[in-house]
Order: sequence, then structure tokens, then C-alpha cells
Amino acid sequence: MLYELEAGREFCNCGNLMKSETTFRHQSGEDETPYYTIEIFEIFTCPSCSKATIICYSTLGNDEEDEMNRDNMESEFYRDYRRTVLHAPRKQLHYAVPRYIAEVTYQAQSVLSKSSRASFILCRAVLEEICNDFKIPSEGVNKKGKSNFINLKERLTQLFEQEKISEDLVDIIQGIRDLGNEGAHSDHLTFAKQVKVEDANSLLMLVNYVVERLYVDKYRQQEAEEELIKLKEKILTSE
Ligand SMILES: [Zn+2]
Repeated sequence: MLYELEAGREFCNCGNLMKSETTFRHQSGEDETPYYTIEIFEIFTCPSCSKATIICYSTLGNDEEDEMNRDNMESEFYRDYRRTVLHAPRKQLHYAVPRYIAEVTYQAQSVLSKSSRASFILCRAVLEEICNDFKIPSEGVNKKGKSNFINLKERLTQLFEQEKISEDLVDIIQGIRDLGNEGAHSDHLTFAKQVKVEDANSLLMLVNYVVERLYVDKYRQQEAEEELIKLKEKILTSE
């Protein structure tokens, strides 16, 4: 995703608009080529939770193109930048999310800037944890009476049936599994070429969404139902 530097508004993981504290700009080029890289590191603080976030905006430049765009050159903003979050306070999951599921999700976030691949694998591990939480077996017994391993695909199919997971959520969970498998099984060079930090961040966003739908929605639904019963008892039966 390309980012327009000029917009300049960044939000903390807690949801509040952040304040820019300091910016460091670094430019490096390769000898004998017109190409160079600009990286802008910006540190933000959040006035609400007072945590810091570090974001890197990077872009490729080309001296020859710059020559043609000379009129726009005085502004840094005519380029498109790639935005990478290097450090951010972790997004807090609702307390209705089981602890070990929240922990693996947090781990997927904390390795994000160091290894997209590790983050992909941990996103897949969140699905394993969800299956464990809903008591979907990871081992079965085959026709010959021997115990055998049940793979994640089969476990998820059981989960969808058992919990009557809605169609839209099934698609997202299967997508996370397919992508997580790429992290676990594809060779390193191909993966590194295809998958960038922002992709790992998007996958993590999907995992957060699934976790919230599975645990927090149910919790809020229960809360609402209980509240409704209380209100009805108090008001509708007192006539
Ligand atoms: Zn904050």
C-alpha cells in the first residue's frame, strides 16, 4: 500500500491521534546507478496512553526522473511512500479472549517488524489455539485402530460445524490458514520476495477480526441478553 506523506495523520493502536515528536531522514544510493532510497523515520507519542510508535516511510528515487520532475522537487511530497510500523504499543484484546489465544496474537504482532514469516506462522498458530479452545481433537484413531494426527484443515472443518460459524467468517479463517501455510512451507527466498511487513500486518488484522468475532461478539451478545432480561423483569412485570 502506498502512503501519501502529506496526509501525516497517524493513529495509536489505542485509537487516538498521535503527536509527531521527531523525524530523521536518511538517503542512500548505489554507486554508478541513478537509483537511491529515502527513509524517513518518525517517532510519535500518544497523548492518551503516552506510548511511543515508530514508523518508517521509504521510497525509491531516481536522479534521472528527478531531473524531469524538477518543478515538483522542492516538495518531498510528490513521491509515494511505503509505510512500515517498526514499533507500536500492542493492540489490547478484549478480556473475553482466552489468555493463550491473546498471547499468541501478541507474539505475532511483536515479531512483525523483524520477520513477516514468523508473524505469518504465528497467525496460523492462533487458529490452532482456537481449535484447542473449542476442544477440537488434534489426534484421532484410524480404521486400523492406530492414532493419527488431524491436520488444521480437518480440525477447522470440525470447528465450523460444531460452532455453526457463519459463511463469511469461514472464508476469512480458511484464508488465514492458506496464507499461514505459505509462511510455514514456502521456501525462504520466494516468501521474502512476495511478503512484506505490511502484508504481515494485514494478516494480523484479519486474525484480530476473527478473534473478536469468535469471542467478543458472543460476550457482548450475552451481556445484551442479560441486560434485556433485567430490564424486562423490572419494567414489564411491575404493572
Ligand atoms: Zn495510545
